[in-house]
Amino acid sequence: MQIDFELLHSKLEALKNKYQNLTYLETDPICFPKQYKDPLDIEVVSLISCLFAYGNVKSIQGFLRPLFTLLGPSPFQTLQEAGSNYQTLFQKLQGYRFQTKKDNQNFFQTLVRIISESKNKSPLWESKFLDQAGKFQEESSLQNFQRFWEKELQTTLGKKPLTYGLQFLIGKSTTNSPKKRLSLFLRWMVRTSYPDFGIYQKIKPNQIPFPLDVHIQKLIQILGITSRKSFRSSDAYLIKDFFLKIKPDDPLLYDFYLTRVGIIEKCKASYQEGVCEKCYLKEICLVVPRGIEPRLQG
Ligand code: SF4
Repeated sequence: MQIDFELLHSKLEALKNKYQNLTYLETDPICFPKQYKDPLDIEVVSLISCLFAYGNVKSIQGFLRPLFTLLGPSPFQTLQEAGSNYQTLFQKLQGYRFQTKKDNQNFFQTLVRIISESKNKSPLWESKFLDQAGKFQEESSLQNFQRFWEKELQTTLGKKPLTYGLQFLIGKSTTNSPKKRLSLFLRWMVRTSYPDFGIYQKIKPNQIPFPLDVHIQKLIQILGITSRKSFRSSDAYLIKDFFLKIKPDDPLLYDFYLTRVGIIEKCKASYQEGVCEKCYLKEICLVVPRGIEPRLQG
């Protein structure tokens, strides 16, 4: 199918105008790092929020909210000062879905150790994505970051292999999966405009993979952007390349707004009259029967 880029662009702009509003941040895990000003707090809270951002919004928030209350007004400082007292700090920490209570304690013990060695220098982890020449590489940068964490978690566990929960949390450096939670973390760290933070300066917004979460995976199919049904890490870059044609400097601009169609509008990726009639993407969505005039123009 031939895509009408001008029409797609105008619909994406309409979505952006609708959802570029602070009240909609509450429906996204970015609401957690948004509560902090210091880049060190923002980076630490962003990483934790993204790694645990799987499952439904209610359970993600139900786990993260008490955790960040526990970490106080400066999570970076709390973790930095925790030292050997980390066990007391995380005594009440619960498990979350695939992570047992013990997995979470091991993860935070690792984070405490990494942060205590960080010398208060922001950014903490941009260099972990880069190659030896300080460059971001599509084929290896996210894997570099995962390898760094695998090694650090291994240090915490001693001779034991990573548990399923810990491996799931950081993802496997050797698999071909789209690495959507790390892509989201990069989006928050690299993009400079709303709603993201622009803390990483060496990686450019037009280099990073599109976060292919479940909502985006459905939307890119029903908007005719891809015919793929399953996704690999290379697809996250192909989708980013598609959006480069619309926004050459900032291809992930519409990610936050597109995911609202799934999260807020409850798009089911099939025609549901009550939902689709109000959708700003109706005119360009392939599952909408043609001949039905949109009642609401975007
Ligand atoms: S028109 Fe319906 S199916 Fe298509 S994107 Fe909108 S809500 Fe989803």
